Amino acid sequence: AYVVTSACIDCKDGACVQACPVDSIYEGKRTMYIHPDECIDCGVCVSFCPPQAIFEDLRLPESERHFLAVNREFFEPA
Ligand code: SF4
Repeated sequence: AYVVTSACIDCKDGACVQACPVDSIYEGKRTMYIHPDECIDCGVCVSFCPPQAIFEDLRLPESERHFLAVNREFFEPA
């Protein structure tokens, strides 16, 4: 699944939400979150993200790895 990372914080552009064909991007308080089980890995959202905050989970930069858990926990609070 694709993952929203730190560059999304306080962006709230919202173009990604509109672009996702399966509506798997949800708006949180300060960032968007991608539902890991709803995302179909199409990659469409990546080019619609102004701050380039969206990465495929396997291609996450080292410093952004923890956002994998951050996105999942938004939907499945511990
Ligand atoms: Fe939606 Fe595709 Fe982005 Fe997944 S990769 S969040 S399905 S637009």
